[in-house]
This record gives sequence, C-alpha cells and structure tokens, in this order.
Amino acid sequence: MDRREFNKRMVMAGIGAGVGLAKGSKAMGGEKVGNYYEEPVKRLPIRKFDVVVAGGGTAGVVAALAAARQGAKTALIEVKGYPGGTVTEGGTALHSFYNLWKAFPGVKKRQVVKGIGQEIIERLMKVGGATGHAEMSKGYDFDSVCTAIDTEMYKLVTFEMLDEAGVFICVNTLLAGAIMESKRIKGVIAESRSGREAFYAKSFVDCTAYGDMCAYAGAEYTEPNDYPVVNSIGIANVSMEKYYEYLKSHYAVKQLAHGRRSGKDNQIVRLQGEAVKLPAGFSEEAAKIGMSTVTTTVHDDYFMFIKLNFKMAVSPTDRDAVSKAELELRKRQLKAVELFRQFVPGCEKAFIARTSPKLCIRRGRLIRCDYDISHEDVIEGRHFDDDVMVYGFHDFAPRFQIKDGGTYGIPYKALRVAGVENLLAAGMMITSDHRAHMSTRNTVGCMGQGQAAGTAAALCAQKKCGTRELRYGDLRNALEKGGVYFES
Ligand SMILES: Cc1cc2nc3c(=O)[nH]c(=O)nc-3n(C[C@H](O)[C@H](O)[C@H](O)COP(=O)(O)OP(=O)(O)OC[C@H]3O[C@@H](n4cnc5c(N)ncnc54)[C@H](O)[C@@H]3O)c2cc1C
Repeated sequence: MDRREFNKRMVMAGIGAGVGLAKGSKAMGGEKVGNYYEEPVKRLPIRKFDVVVAGGGTAGVVAALAAARQGAKTALIEVKGYPGGTVTEGGTALHSFYNLWKAFPGVKKRQVVKGIGQEIIERLMKVGGATGHAEMSKGYDFDSVCTAIDTEMYKLVTFEMLDEAGVFICVNTLLAGAIMESKRIKGVIAESRSGREAFYAKSFVDCTAYGDMCAYAGAEYTEPNDYPVVNSIGIANVSMEKYYEYLKSHYAVKQLAHGRRSGKDNQIVRLQGEAVKLPAGFSEEAAKIGMSTVTTTVHDDYFMFIKLNFKMAVSPTDRDAVSKAELELRKRQLKAVELFRQFVPGCEKAFIARTSPKLCIRRGRLIRCDYDISHEDVIEGRHFDDDVMVYGFHDFAPRFQIKDGGTYGIPYKALRVAGVENLLAAGMMITSDHRAHMSTRNTVGCMGQGQAAGTAAALCAQKKCGTRELRYGDLRNALEKGGVYFES
C-alpha cells in the first residue's frame, strides 16, 4: 500500500474528521454517502505539551524519558496497557550493549551503548529482572554478550521510570491521526475510552514501529514485507540444564552463555541448538512451524522466549491478513510446546506461560528520513559528523560483522523524517536496506535512537526550532550529559 492508498483509506475511515465520545465534543453532521458512512465532525478537547512521543515500546520509553529529563512537558501515547513493546514480546536478548570483541582477538572489550538503556538494565538487576551482560562462551562470533530480561519486570520498571520522570503516560490509548499545518504537525489525535482528544505539541517523535504517526503526517514510506511475523512464547516447567544436555548429546550446542538466573550467578541463561544435528522428528517439525531453537531466561524452569515465525503474504498493516496470521501463530505455539514435551527430557510437563498480546513485526512501514543508513555504512564502521550514538551488532553475524569488531555511527539525519519539520522517527521504522536494518533494528540500537530522538525533540521545543535547525553541538552536549557513549 502506498501513501496515496493509505490516505484514501484514512479518509474513508474518517481520520481527521474527529469522531469520538470525548466529553464536551459536539456532533456536526453525519450521513450515508453511497456505500460509505460519513462520520460527523466533532469538537475535541485539546491538551498541550512540548513533546509527544507515540509508541511506548523499545525506543519510545527511552525517547519519552530523555525528553522529560531535558525538562520538556512530555506525553507518551501507548496502545497497550504497559510500556515495553517488542523488547518484552519478540526478542530473546538485548543485542548489544558491547562491541564484538570476542570474535576479534586483540580487540578491546568496550560497552558502546550506555545512557538510559544501561540504566534500565541496572534497575532490572535490582529486582532480579536481568541476567546482566553475560559473556557468551559459545557463539560469540554472533554477539559477545547475552543480556536477557524478565519481560514482566521490564514493563514495571520502565513504567516506574516514566512516572518518576514526570511523563504524562497514556496507556490503552491509540494514536489515531495527525493535525497538519503545512509541513508541521500541530497536534495528534489520541483515542481511548475517555474519548478522542487532540494532543498539541512543538515536537513529535514516532516510535510506533509501524510508523503510524509518520504515515498520518503524510511522510513517505515503503512496506517491503520481507520478514516473517512472530508471536513468541514463554514456556514453563522446563529445564535449561536438561535442554543443554539434550543439545550436547547431539553435538548441537551452537550458543551458550552463563549469567545471573533466579538470583544465582553462573547459570545457563542462553542456549541455541544447531537444528541440522538434532533428530529429524524435532528439527523438521520445528522448521514447519517456524520455531527457533534459541532461548534465554532469567529464571529457573523457564524458557523466556521461544519464537514462532510465520511469513505473511501481504504486509502486516493489513488487518484481515493479520487476523488469520494471529490464529495460525497460536496453533504453532501449541505445536511448539508439544515438541518440547515429546523430545526434550525434563520438559514432559511444559506449558505455555506467556504469549505476546499480538503478533510482533520486524518491519512494517519504513519511513523516508533525511538519510538512509546503508549496509556499507554498517559493515565498514562508518561514522558521521552528526552521530547520535554508536553501535556494534549485526544480526547476520558472523556472515556480516562490523569491521574489526568496532562500531558505526547512527547520524541525527537518519532520524529526521523527510518532508516534516518537527517530526523524528526512532526504532525499527528507519533504514530501508534489509541488511543494514538487520543491525539498526535491534533492541539496544532502538534504545539509543530513542534517547537521541527524545533529547533532540525536547531541545527543539525549548529553542522553538524545527528538527533541521537544531545545532548538532547542542544535541551532542546533551547526549553526553545523558551518559551516551561516543567513540572519541
Ligand atoms: C520476533 C522478534 C525477535 C527479535 N529478536 C531480537 C533479539 O533477540 N534481540 C534484539 O536486540 N532485537 C530483536 N528483535 C528486534 C527488536 O526487538 C525490535 O526491532 C525492536 O524492539 C523494535 O523497537 P521499536 O521501538 O521500533 O518498536 P516496539 O518496541 O514494537 O514499540 C512500538 C510500540 O508502539 C506501540 N504502538 C504501535 N502503534 C501504535 C499506535 N497507533 N498508537 C499507540 N501506540 C502504538 C506498540 O504497542 C509498541 O509498544 C526481534 C524482533 C522480533 C519481532
């Protein structure tokens, strides 16, 4: 679906016409036109902020925290009942706070993403909600560390942090439209059971993963639909040690890390099997349901993540296709737990303890920004004169690694949404090149982008300027004060 088609659908759906149940709103019409019902125009209550962040997921939590800590009056609009997003629902571990030093003998170990992302991990450690940065002892040509989280603790800890920072948190609230004034967003429409409201602000950050705010603002985008969607599960009543023994008995241990688990150090926290070495009954059936053999955990007797992939024929912005995919994925989840019960000793009484509330995407809309990070930028380890963070992980490693176990830079221009004066994007919606995206989309990269976008949005609001007028020096100073690491 292109931008014109999206706009047509939105017009048909009445977006911008202002329909809702908000107190004080007033109906001004409404009639049937052919096969369409034309929604009545309504008067919506207005709330005013410096910064509005849409999407309280991996990038959005950090963006809202960064904006509020700069002193900006910040609102966060999140459709689910909690913050966290895909980091709590999709991925096995947070890739990666470190460079790939273990794969490059002689290269120095360095933590290359710090700032708010690291602060979240420290808060999680205090409540037993993370493994720490556990060093990989096998498979370290992929990532040198495994940083796994307790998904439920992540939701609580980030919720508390947002509250402490004074963010106006609107959960269970859908971003449903944008109010444009030429090339500026004047406000956005938020919809909840309290009704439809207009949120006015000076600067906006889109962290919805799907690029909803950008699309409503008329930004250009593509929808490559080049990735499977997933509904990952947590499986309880299992044993990491017995899964390890099972993999070992087939010479199939591909990845292994020991870290903090159920309050004890040096426990297995990450395992991946080499599917081809496993019995066909397990590996062939796993392949049919798109099941990955990788898992991580923070607790005894629990696999925090088992991923079930499904490749949709059309983009995950198609509601009807998504409904079918949701059912298919839930069928696959049951088959997955049955496979563990049947094949892996110690898992005979396994059951599904967690599912994601909805399927997770890896790429939805890809938003056109002032700069599109290329694969060469990533693997050559290029830096820019407007870097807002550095990053050293690639999901295709060891096939593609960042040169010499180093880092590349994410430039500020890669977050500025093309054609809109006061809108930044962060998270999986940037970077159109599939291979480059296999780096920039990962959780820790999204967190760093969130900190940069939230900080920049707050500074723009303070200085009453557009995103392109912000002086890089001011942004860099603020990011350094916020603990962001840069290669000197
Ligand atoms: C199955 C899977 C496995 C992965 N594995 C890993 C891994 O092991 N390690 C790793 O580092 N990365 C992994 N990734 C990648 C990484 O998890 C994601 O790319 C990253 O978390 C995306 O962050 P985000 O902030 O862009 O989006 P999200 O974290 O998804 O946040 C988007 C938020 O916006 C909200 N939202 C959306 N639309 C609206 C709207 N209209 N109104 C209000 N709110 C809205 C959503 O509810 C959500 O909370 C994986 C991804 C998937 C899907």
